[in-house]
Amino acid sequence: MQPAAPITQDLVTIPRKLPQSERQNLVGLTRDGLRAALIEAGTPEKQAKMRVGQIWQWIYQKGVRDFESMTNLAKDYRALLAERFEIAVPEVVQRQVSADGTRKYLVRIAGGHEVETVYIPETDRGTLCISSQVGCTLTCSFCHTGTQKLVRNLTPGEIIGQVMLARDDLGEWPEPGRNPKNEQRLLSNIVLMGMGEPLYNFDGVRDAMQIAMDGEGISLSRRRITLSTSGVVPEIARTAEEIGCLLAVSFHATTDEVRDKLVPINKRWNITELLDALRAYPKLSNSERITFEYVMLKDVNDSDADARRLVKLIRGIPAKINLIPFNEWPGAPYERSDWERIEAFADIVYKAGYASPVRTPRGEDIMAACGQLKSATERGRRSRAQIASELGGG
Ligand code: SAH
Ligand code: SF4
Repeated sequence: MQPAAPITQDLVTIPRKLPQSERQNLVGLTRDGLRAALIEAGTPEKQAKMRVGQIWQWIYQKGVRDFESMTNLAKDYRALLAERFEIAVPEVVQRQVSADGTRKYLVRIAGGHEVETVYIPETDRGTLCISSQVGCTLTCSFCHTGTQKLVRNLTPGEIIGQVMLARDDLGEWPEPGRNPKNEQRLLSNIVLMGMGEPLYNFDGVRDAMQIAMDGEGISLSRRRITLSTSGVVPEIARTAEEIGCLLAVSFHATTDEVRDKLVPINKRWNITELLDALRAYPKLSNSERITFEYVMLKDVNDSDADARRLVKLIRGIPAKINLIPFNEWPGAPYERSDWERIEAFADIVYKAGYASPVRTPRGEDIMAACGQLKSATERGRRSRAQIASELGGG
């Protein structure tokens, strides 16, 4: 697919490095955490709840980044807060806009690491694809992120900070007194489908999503948040109970033999165990369908027999099957299935009664599509050969 218009790419000037701040960042603290921090700083316990509410609204509803603007707080108190705390989101070091409107942000976090965040505008929604880790411990063989070693988990502040920096860029902090409904927003949905395995950073992701869903702040409905997992079975029930968002699962194969190769976590928890956990999810979380993501790899997992096995396996689970044409990246060991093959596969799935949208690759010209994310600056990446030998030996 050729870009219709030139790619715009503005390199944001990186400010001179200031001495590392001693002040505690309030972004990413839960309400309880914020309360504890305020009390620690000398806020009388009796006032703490009210102060949490006020500061929370300034940060998450109005997008304010300095204490001076918090006009419903006394001047002295604002000064005290400014001395002790900061309101900081990760820095955007590069922003690229695709011909199709997709925006990709290269985001720098503490320690100089980088992750990517992608904003995808559609007619009825705007979805932000956020990262939960720098790199990934897992090594799915078709995924670019999987070639990069896990550097560290993102903190809740760095996770929710991606939502905040996207809102900054979209100019979407509501006017005072106005908090538009989810469906009217530019950023109306979140998918945890960027870099990393969200369920290996469970606490960080949970706290950040709780902030995103908080009714006095960003206030996104839990049905507008989708967490994608490669299949960390023991954390699936917790996701239902402690986050309650929609779930997507990187299924990608219909036999353990093939799934072991594509999604190596399958060797730990196989298809049967995964399906058992998924069967319980909708009831536990009181949510609708589970999305089964299925990457279409030429001659690997794309036969009619695969399609038939797939619908048989998931029978009884309220499901949507999302077919993802493989997004190529330099050195990738697979090819995208042909369109006729994808259509034939989709047809079998559809006739079995499942919605089977084929995910249109977005932002391909800026390498923003699913599974293409990887920070070019990270060192310590493994080569394909290394991964292959680890897989063989694992
Ligand atoms: N770690 C999580 C979430 C991030 S990946 C997970 O694996 O689910 C988001 C989705 O993109 C997953 O379904 C993943 O399998 C898929 N994906 C990864 N690399 C891809 C590629 N090159 N082409 C298409 N989809 C890919
Ligand atoms: Fe990690 Fe998901 Fe990529 Fe697998 S597909 S390597 S779990 S980011």
